Amino acid sequence: MQRSSKREYWGHLSTEPAGAREFRYAIGIAIFSTLVFVLVLPFAGKPLPQVAAFIPMYVTALTICDLITAALLFSQFRALQRIELAILAGGYMFTATATVAYALIFPGLFSASGLLGSGSQTSSALYMFWHAGFPLAVIGYALLEGDGARLPVFTRLQRKKVLVAIAITVTLVLMLVSGFTAMVTAGREQLPVFLEGHRTTVTGKLFLIGIWMLSLLAVWVLWRRKQRTVLDVWLLVVMCVWVFDLALAAVLNTGRYDLGWYAGRIYGLLGAGSLLFTLLSENARHYARLVRMSAGLRASNDQLWHLSLRDGLTELANRRAFDNYLAEQMAVSIRHKRPLALVLIDVDYFKPYNDHYGHPSGDQCLRQLADAIRSCCKRPADMAARYGGEEFALILPDTEPAGAIYIAEAARAAVAALRIDHARCPTGAHISVSIGLSVLDPVDGMTAEQLIVAADGALYRAKDAGRNRVASAADGSVAV
Ligand code: GH3
Ligand code: MG
Ligand code: MG
Repeated sequence: MQRSSKREYWGHLSTEPAGAREFRYAIGIAIFSTLVFVLVLPFAGKPLPQVAAFIPMYVTALTICDLITAALLFSQFRALQRIELAILAGGYMFTATATVAYALIFPGLFSASGLLGSGSQTSSALYMFWHAGFPLAVIGYALLEGDGARLPVFTRLQRKKVLVAIAITVTLVLMLVSGFTAMVTAGREQLPVFLEGHRTTVTGKLFLIGIWMLSLLAVWVLWRRKQRTVLDVWLLVVMCVWVFDLALAAVLNTGRYDLGWYAGRIYGLLGAGSLLFTLLSENARHYARLVRMSAGLRASNDQLWHLSLRDGLTELANRRAFDNYLAEQMAVSIRHKRPLALVLIDVDYFKPYNDHYGHPSGDQCLRQLADAIRSCCKRPADMAARYGGEEFALILPDTEPAGAIYIAEAARAAVAALRIDHARCPTGAHISVSIGLSVLDPVDGMTAEQLIVAADGALYRAKDAGRNRVASAADGSVAV
């Protein structure tokens, strides 16, 4: 089978290739069904009391199961637009409606001889119609295999057209079942005699054997599918149970209300329920997988977001985060006419430090400096960032020049307090930083670039004045 896109097959029972898990379950159920069948077989003809509540319960449960299964299969058809799914969904819709019709005309349920003026053979005829129709739908499903089942007209089918296709399938099924029901009730006198009293006649047996063979054919056609999907495996289970159901309930028993009749119908119910259970539990499993995947995606998104805004070496905000935050906070400052301070910090004689101690030690030194500088940000809105190689920056919203000088001094002192040895520093024995700062005048306004240039100018004045000091752009002052 040609696989067009792997992603399309994920999450759909009807396209996901069956794995060992499905085969294990399916074989388990098949063995169990065979055992039950073999155990019940010798007693299939044993007459049992006529339980009036059995047929209504059986019919109600079966109809609900089949209708939900049909709805789930139609929804898979909507998602995948594969015709074989519409056929199978139609098959389930057919069994659901045929079951309702069967209940309406079953003698003793709604009236003594059955509703709609049915005769003694009508319910048997309908039973056979119902049990022949479903295997035919399964055969139709199984024969339309793989991507070939996507008729050209269906490949570009829009949502609306898919809904129309579903409506047509449902209407056809309703017409088919009501037409047949009308035919077997109107022509009740011409029907062959399938049942005498509660016993099946030879004609009845022959018809039932024919239908049974049709079900076997459905199993065979399903089995022959090249690439069995999860749905195929479960349909195989359903059809095996169906074959046992028919064998007990109609072929190997003697007539209505014997052990085989009851056991077969219970089998049928279990068969119908098993696919529904699988469809629902697979849906839940896929949903859980989806939830897990989206949680994973959210976590990786958060991580990516974090990575895109953090500096890998120092864990401070990176240049991108700095640029964004500066633009954002400048806009806020101008809007509220509040000052904003920018502090640029450059490590003194860091190139000689690298040359002397090596790059790994240089990196370690930058990490320590980052921690010291970060510790000077006291307010929630303050940001410490790595501006470039050995340059750091502080964005201090709502901070006057005096406050900014105070923080800058604190940063310089925090670095000095680390007392990191620097044997090649011409101005001292330890690592030091020079700091330049500028403060945004919210009234006259300034661009981010102008603010940075002003802070940079102050920084170079601090360097020129002998390093290890703070300079402010505002008044040209340099503090030692
Ligand atoms: P000045 O006092 O004038 O600032 O002198 P300097 O040596 O610090 O100036 P310069 O800008 O010439 O040197 C910066 C050096 O910082 C260059 C490079 O060796 C070092 N550097 C930049 N980024 C990193 C980094 O990520 N890790 C390490 N280990 N060193 C870095
Ligand atoms: Mg530098
Ligand atoms: Mg430097």
